[in-house]
Amino acid sequence: MPHIRRRPALAACLIAAALLSAAAAPAAAADIRIGALAFRGTEEAVHTWGPTVDALARALPEHNLVLVPLDLVAMGRAVAVGDVDFVLTNPGHYVELELAHTITRIATLETTDHGTPRAAVGSVIFTRADRADIQSLTDLRGMVFEAVAPTAFGGFQIAWRELRDAGVEPHDDFAELRFTGFPLDQIVYDVRDRRADAGTVRACLLEEMAAEGRIDLADFHILNPMPADGFPCLVSSRLYPDWAFAKLRHTDRALAKQVAMALLGLGMAGPLPAGAAQWTVPLSYQPVYDLYADLRIGPFAVEPSEVFAEMLRRHWEWPALAAALLLLAGLFHLRTERLVARRTAELHREMDERRKAQEEAQLRLAELAHVSRQSTMGELASGLAHEINQPLAAITNYANGCIRRLEVDAGNAEILEAIRQIVRQAQRAAGIIQNIRAFLRKGEESRRPLDVNTVLRDAAALLAAETRHARVAVALDLGDGLPPVLADRIQLEQVVVNLMRNAVEAMQAVPPDERRLTLRTAAEDGGTAVLVAVRDTGPGLPADARERVFEPFFTTKPNGMGLGLSISQSIVENHGGWLGIEEEPSGAGTVVAFSLPAWTEDRAADARILGGTQASGITPASPPAR
Ligand code: ADP
Repeated sequence: MPHIRRRPALAACLIAAALLSAAAAPAAAADIRIGALAFRGTEEAVHTWGPTVDALARALPEHNLVLVPLDLVAMGRAVAVGDVDFVLTNPGHYVELELAHTITRIATLETTDHGTPRAAVGSVIFTRADRADIQSLTDLRGMVFEAVAPTAFGGFQIAWRELRDAGVEPHDDFAELRFTGFPLDQIVYDVRDRRADAGTVRACLLEEMAAEGRIDLADFHILNPMPADGFPCLVSSRLYPDWAFAKLRHTDRALAKQVAMALLGLGMAGPLPAGAAQWTVPLSYQPVYDLYADLRIGPFAVEPSEVFAEMLRRHWEWPALAAALLLLAGLFHLRTERLVARRTAELHREMDERRKAQEEAQLRLAELAHVSRQSTMGELASGLAHEINQPLAAITNYANGCIRRLEVDAGNAEILEAIRQIVRQAQRAAGIIQNIRAFLRKGEESRRPLDVNTVLRDAAALLAAETRHARVAVALDLGDGLPPVLADRIQLEQVVVNLMRNAVEAMQAVPPDERRLTLRTAAEDGGTAVLVAVRDTGPGLPADARERVFEPFFTTKPNGMGLGLSISQSIVENHGGWLGIEEEPSGAGTVVAFSLPAWTEDRAADARILGGTQASGITPASPPAR
């Protein structure tokens, strides 16, 4: 810590010696140590305060006065440990030390630069005289602004308070807030030479520079001019007490009194010693406290958490709104997630259902094909029996005739036996065919009361792909409240599918937009039967074929079997109904219709008594012969 012992006329060499001996040299017991704030370095501090301490030393010859230049941090530490007896510091720093370490001012600096003594400091905020766009402090928003340092009392903080009062927050509202450091003159030149839009310096600097011929005051425009009675310079701010000379708590009161009197007496008895400062009675530093409190700096600096709490208290509506929005966003997110999850589950379920329906349709088509093959075989056997029975019967008859003649003529016994064999074999062949027919006819039937409309819907769904592919429009015209019919579902479905396929195939002969297939159901005969009609818009039956279409093997199609209609007729008749082709005007299409007896509880009871079988497995007592 540099310290400089002051004696009259010895000042210069003592300063040099002290600078060399530096912090290690302990102070002599009688030394009176005066800490001076050296904000621009030790030399500058010695230059500024050396003459004053010299003058004091002359006034108090019995004491060894030592000037100790200290920066802000070092002075804080020196005061805390009582390493100095007096301090000489700026107003802002003084109030900090007063609060922290109970130091007491004994004099306030009084400057007489312009002939008028003043114990106050202020700041000037200025721009170029030709800046028509900057007329008030509020015009400074968005400008480049210069000041010396963030901690400079007269060089920034005083102006800050005025700007804030005008609603301009230097740290937020300027395009740039530039701190230039010393010397202050630089700010003045920067504004003049348009390197900055505006700036602040301590009051009187502009006048001093103008007096030295370095600037022309007419080039500048002072913003926010304040009336300041007796203050010799232009000023943009309120005034504050100047530097303080203060004693520490441990400093002897009598000594403090002596020093105070010596300070106040400087320049009183004769001219003020060259370079020494003029001092006046200690002023109130309350305005400085007010400034710090306003700006919340120095001893009034608040913790970030306090700032946050204060902001929250003043502007609670914004965080509340943000929280509400966050909450809403959270809820919206949750809802979306739930909807997505639900929709995904639905999609899975739908896919499962579709897959199951497809599997079922496959199964039923296979079942239908199986039954169809079985019915075809039955029909084939019936047709064969019908066709072969005649020649077989003829063979038997002719053979029997031969036998009778040979018996009468007592002919060749061997030939007789051979012919008898022919008869037996012919009868056996007829028997085999009957057996096959009977076997296939029996099939595996499962009759249950069925809703015909459901069967039709199922059949239409089964053939949906085929009808779509053949570009046929299918319409359902289903009657309400139909009685159920007792039938084998698969056989009934096969009838409907056969008729629909015939209709679709017939309609390939007409243009696609005329292809319409209608499935109609209605109650018949006072509700004792159910009618099913399959109507198409095809070319109709060829006139000469009308009588023959129910014959097995009759077909007009190149790849047809000619069994569809005859099988369908057999199935329907087997269920106690009828199947026929309705007359239609020529060219208006074809209607193939069938009717099945309605199933009622009475019939079921009758069937149980007659056949002694379960209602679900009833076979009609006498199935109609084909
Ligand atoms: P296939 O369809 O194998 O020919 P079917 O017994 O089902 O055997 O039909 C016999 C014939 O009846 C068909 O070849 C066709 O000439 C005629 N036919 C059946 N249904 C229709 C219809 N809806 N429109 C026109 N002709 C039909």
